[in-house]
Amino acid sequence: MAYKKDTICVQGGYRPKTGESRIPPISQSTTYFYEKTQDMADLFDLKADGYFYTRLANPTVAAFEGKVAELEGGVAAIGCSSGMAASTLMAFTLCGCGDNIVSSSAIYGGTFNLFAVTLPKLGIYTRFFDPDAPAEEIEKLIDDKTKFIFTETVANPSIKILDFGKIAAIAQKHGVLFVVDNTLATPILCRPFEWGANIVIHSSSKYLDGHAAALGGVIVDGGNFCFKNNPRYAPFNEPDESYHGLVYADLPAAQFATKCRAQMMRDMGAMMSPQNAFLSWLGCDTLALRMERHSSNAQKVAAYLAKHPKIDWVWHASLPGNKYHAVAQKYLPEGTGGMLSFGIKGDVSQAARFMEALKLITQETHVADVRSCVLHPASTTHRQLTKEELVEAGVPENLVRLSVGIENPEDIIADLEQALAHV
Ligand SMILES: *Cc1c(COP(=O)(O)O)cnc(C)c1O
Repeated sequence: MAYKKDTICVQGGYRPKTGESRIPPISQSTTYFYEKTQDMADLFDLKADGYFYTRLANPTVAAFEGKVAELEGGVAAIGCSSGMAASTLMAFTLCGCGDNIVSSSAIYGGTFNLFAVTLPKLGIYTRFFDPDAPAEEIEKLIDDKTKFIFTETVANPSIKILDFGKIAAIAQKHGVLFVVDNTLATPILCRPFEWGANIVIHSSSKYLDGHAAALGGVIVDGGNFCFKNNPRYAPFNEPDESYHGLVYADLPAAQFATKCRAQMMRDMGAMMSPQNAFLSWLGCDTLALRMERHSSNAQKVAAYLAKHPKIDWVWHASLPGNKYHAVAQKYLPEGTGGMLSFGIKGDVSQAARFMEALKLITQETHVADVRSCVLHPASTTHRQLTKEELVEAGVPENLVRLSVGIENPEDIIADLEQALAHV
């Protein structure tokens, strides 16, 4: 029986046997003991399930992987050392020299660098599209070397909401894998597999862990894509000489996740640590409760700021005037999470004065954890850009990015109020 998401948050991924610890122990070990040589040989041949070396699998990491896979409704998941490691391993599982990626341009800065700067050095090129562009324009970018389409559910930092229907239709029409970074929505607010995605990526460093305690990433296999005899995915249909001639497309399940783990995790080794898996597993216990609170707090803060005379504009999909209000109501009906941005009237010095006057809300480069925090991109992450370049990048000089935490909303608003009095 399939449980509801809030039940999976506390019950998913781990079931103790009688007498075992109720929550997953931290299996702080690189390796595992077997009495019989044949038992180990079967593991290496993927004939049996089990652990032999923590770079490939670990019981604590498996508990976290299981919980996220269940929450997303996927068939398997792979815990990685960071969100960037997850994106990198996913891309290498699908692409080789000469292949290309078709990606939204409204994505996390680190992923943008991976696609625009690092992968081209290996002959893998990315064609970027504006997620608001019409389908005809986006599908022109696809050719027979395109290995996946990449988007974010709630884009970081622009907070654009993904029109799943449009992208899923393009992916299906051309038989291309549809990959979604679901970090800022989490499976509590949106499950991309229900809207046509085939692979989901997470930076668990954000809401999944939720406490800013552990870096991590996850790749989730939807198990809903046919690789068999698909010429676009020839490497899934040819024997893997580095893995005893295994043909991934012939596996009964989790073809993508098996290839990703057996080849890419083996070769690149960007595995999640058992300690971080434990913290992330524990963090997910409260994920459903936290996302509800993040969303409702952000909605209250957005409504407050929208009415404030010193505020130029507020960007949050909960506001009826927001461009993505209708799309958000369709795909994230329970809320859009805690991220919002706004502009303070006046020049850049007003934003700085406001930020420094905050007492409860802290300045950080992190987002999406329990504590409210702000960032002023023009003087930090986007510091090297000119005034004109900032506008082009969709980050005007007066933009303040606010990640609304789960504190009492009245305290958050009171802090904003007293800081705005200094402007
Ligand atoms: C933070 C983030 C990443 C990168 O994750 P790390 O864990 O920091 O490597 C990827 N995608 C999104 C949407 C993010 O917010």
